[in-house]
Amino acid sequence: MDMDKLVSLCKRRGFLFQSSEIYGGFNGFWDYGPLGVELKRNVKEAWWRDMVLTHDELTAPAGAPEEFQMVGLDCTIIMHPQVWKCSGHYDLFHDYMVDCRETRRRYRYDQVRGRWVAFREKRVFIATELEEGAEQDTQQRALKFLNLRAKDADQLKWDGPVVSLPTVNDLSLVLAPDAKTPGTLTEPREFNLMFKTIVGALGSKDDEAFLRPETAQGIFVNFKNVLDSSRVKLPFGVAQMGKSFRNEITPRNFTFRSREFEQMEIEFFCPPDASRQWYQYWRDRRFRWYTELGLAGERLRLRDHSPDELSHYSTGTADIEYAFPFLPEGEFGELEGIAHRGDFDLRSHMEGKLNPSTRPLQLELDESGKPRWRGSGKDLTYFDADAFERDKERLGVKSFKEYVTQRQGESNPNLPYQYVPHVVEPSAGADRATLAFLCEAYNEDEAPDENGKLQSRVVLKFHPRLAPVKCAVFPLVNRDKMPETAKDLYRALKKRFNVFYDDKGAIGRRYRRQDEVGTPYCITVDGQTLQDQTVTIRDRDSLEQHRMKIDDCAAELERRLG
Ligand code: ATP
Repeated sequence: MDMDKLVSLCKRRGFLFQSSEIYGGFNGFWDYGPLGVELKRNVKEAWWRDMVLTHDELTAPAGAPEEFQMVGLDCTIIMHPQVWKCSGHYDLFHDYMVDCRETRRRYRYDQVRGRWVAFREKRVFIATELEEGAEQDTQQRALKFLNLRAKDADQLKWDGPVVSLPTVNDLSLVLAPDAKTPGTLTEPREFNLMFKTIVGALGSKDDEAFLRPETAQGIFVNFKNVLDSSRVKLPFGVAQMGKSFRNEITPRNFTFRSREFEQMEIEFFCPPDASRQWYQYWRDRRFRWYTELGLAGERLRLRDHSPDELSHYSTGTADIEYAFPFLPEGEFGELEGIAHRGDFDLRSHMEGKLNPSTRPLQLELDESGKPRWRGSGKDLTYFDADAFERDKERLGVKSFKEYVTQRQGESNPNLPYQYVPHVVEPSAGADRATLAFLCEAYNEDEAPDENGKLQSRVVLKFHPRLAPVKCAVFPLVNRDKMPETAKDLYRALKKRFNVFYDDKGAIGRRYRRQDEVGTPYCITVDGQTLQDQTVTIRDRDSLEQHRMKIDDCAAELERRLG
């Protein structure tokens, strides 16, 4: 699929606009137009409905170790700055970047790669951003830089395979990915991805706060509130969706890498000994969610991280990835990460920032041996009262206190009744999911016009749950009471569905306009309607038309939209 076509369709039909476009746009920020907002709302609502609202907490779903509860939260974007210090974002949430002085382009240091080449007395590192085709690209650029022709390629002496830029000590020998002369890259600079802001009037360093770079931390810091207020018991999940902000160095690929975006995250709290099973469950369940909403082809994949990609505290992480058309052939972009996070997060907010490279996890200390960042000091452990009540007779104790006293001297005297829960985190991006559904939906095919002649058409084949408009209602022609009847039908349906009325232009053109924005059904009032109260309903994908009673339209739409 040609990405340019989708980008122009998105603008033309009101799915996506560049933010502040009349001022030339603002890099990394995007606005959703009238149809885009409906599409993205439907993505988010499908997620909330499927994960939270319709979750049956009395039955273990297929693949789950047992039944569980799901609740929601909506936390603030700006939180206490200590949250980000203990979570690790303040210290760790940075990338290194290099700037090209010649082209003014900025690259992520670890994403630039290249090869050393020698020709006569010259030795240069030819850099590229490509992962696939890096060899070919560096060869072409080397020939160009050295003023050679393709047939002279064998005069180039390549020194070693494609390696990443951080392996190069002397940046003055690097020909940057888009530059004409070597030595234009700056030294790598640290770049914190969190947006800073000032809270209050004074504006001093103490008033500094951050826009959240993820929604997850709001869930961790509310763990105890949720536990104490909603009678949830382990295992349970807390879901939150909302805006997150990252000052990305290289925003690009449409909305894929934006600076303001929305996340849909679940923190699933469970007993440590069951956490592997829960990880497996969420990994599979979240993958299925995308396939059920239409990303069913080979462009979607579930990729388990290799051990060297894992955070130290994680025993498993998988990414759900989609082969976005703007990526080179064979490359995939992350839609969602599902991570087994152990007790890292709750302990960090309880004890203070942990050192992620210790095992078992230990507090990170500063030069004077004090905690680098202090935690809340609040008890974020979970007491499994049911399990203790069940076992206490067998254990021969009357109270939990007595039980702990009995086991004093053991490293974890409270186990297995009181512990810091482990966490499985499915963390998705609403904008990336919306973009993937758009890319997958884009199709070009042929459909007959009103004269039966095949015409090419652009059609967005959204899953009906995601389609921004569910049904369009047309009068075949603007006479013989057809508009009045169609308007009445429109009004009746509009109470329940997002329906669109259109009486402008030839009927074939109206169908095509709806196909182009992915409306799954079109209902037409025609001459026969006035005689027998029937209308036609046309299916966007099969193009089949059925006649049915006008009074049955709402029920039929309900059935088809599922
Ligand atoms: P990437 O490696 O692509 O930067 P990430 O691993 O940093 O992503 P996470 O921190 O795991 O991403 O965030 C969870 C989800 O949030 C991602 O899977 C993605 O869908 C979404 N997301 C993260 N960063 C962005 C962004 N800059 N623009 C749009 N969505 C994003």
